[in-house]
Amino acid sequence: MALYGGIDLGGTKIQAVVVDSERAADRGVVGAARHRTPHSGGPPAVAQELARALREAAAQAGAEPARLEGLGVGSPGEVDARAGTVAHAGNLPDWQAPYPLAAELSRTLGGVAVVLGNDVGVATRAELALGAGRGARSLLGVFWGTGVGGGLALEGELWRGRGGAGEIGHMVVKQGGARCPCGRRGCLEAYAGRRAMEARALRKQRKGHETELFTIMREHGHDALSSGIWAHALERGDKLARQLIERAVEALGTGIASAVNLLDVERVVLGGGLGTRFGTEIADRIAAAMRPHLFNDERPPELRVSELGDLGGALGATMLCTAHPDGRDSGLRPVH
Ligand SMILES: [Zn+2]
Repeated sequence: MALYGGIDLGGTKIQAVVVDSERAADRGVVGAARHRTPHSGGPPAVAQELARALREAAAQAGAEPARLEGLGVGSPGEVDARAGTVAHAGNLPDWQAPYPLAAELSRTLGGVAVVLGNDVGVATRAELALGAGRGARSLLGVFWGTGVGGGLALEGELWRGRGGAGEIGHMVVKQGGARCPCGRRGCLEAYAGRRAMEARALRKQRKGHETELFTIMREHGHDALSSGIWAHALERGDKLARQLIERAVEALGTGIASAVNLLDVERVVLGGGLGTRFGTEIADRIAAAMRPHLFNDERPPELRVSELGDLGGALGATMLCTAHPDGRDSGLRPVH
């Protein structure tokens, strides 16, 4: 057995996996655990919860965390992989200054070697190696969830630019358009990000538009409009929910087509909470929304839905470990 740990740190949930890289079935997964991301307590509370989730996944695999060959963590915010720190993780509680996440996790988990990576980058790497991106040389991953994240692979390797590449959520789809959570105007995320969609739904409801979105949210005991709540509302024929999803689809089509005009990738993989939930029913509509904006409209890229779904980020995080068979280009030293 060669066991690797992977954790996907999200704004709402923490997904941990332990994979055996010598096992072919189930993509090697021999342990998995999902926990809620703490809303308070700052980075130390989040680090503790990451360790708990990883311990649980390792226990399922019948191993102590210290026995893992390595642990990779896909994180939002500014990841400094060399220093092992994360800063400015906006969706996480009180997380502005650089926090030594890798060293803290290693200390808590019996000295396991920890490598950090960008959350969207690792999910893209996983789709490329194991999922809907297999066999593609160039790929654009679009992760449609709380925000809209993007990951890019060119000539079979992840493209990070100077570290900030792939921000498709902040491609401008309408000059001077809606205000984006990033503070700028007209970004794709201002129309398609779940947080922006929720804010608009709330404003519309206050102005007298009827919608069951928030009733369904309370029925399910949630405090935000999760992908599942949007799905329920659509099933109940909620008009406002339908309009907002259609608006998001149009914006996604515009933004993705613009990215394709620049890069001419052969494949686009749609993931993220909303992308995974609606992918199969909505991918064709996104492809149709792209069509009018594609310069080479007779040769559109293939649009596929993520095959790894919720596990993609955690699986990709295992590949940050340099010894992992799919971990070829990380070039990073783990932090102990
Ligand atoms: Zn923006």
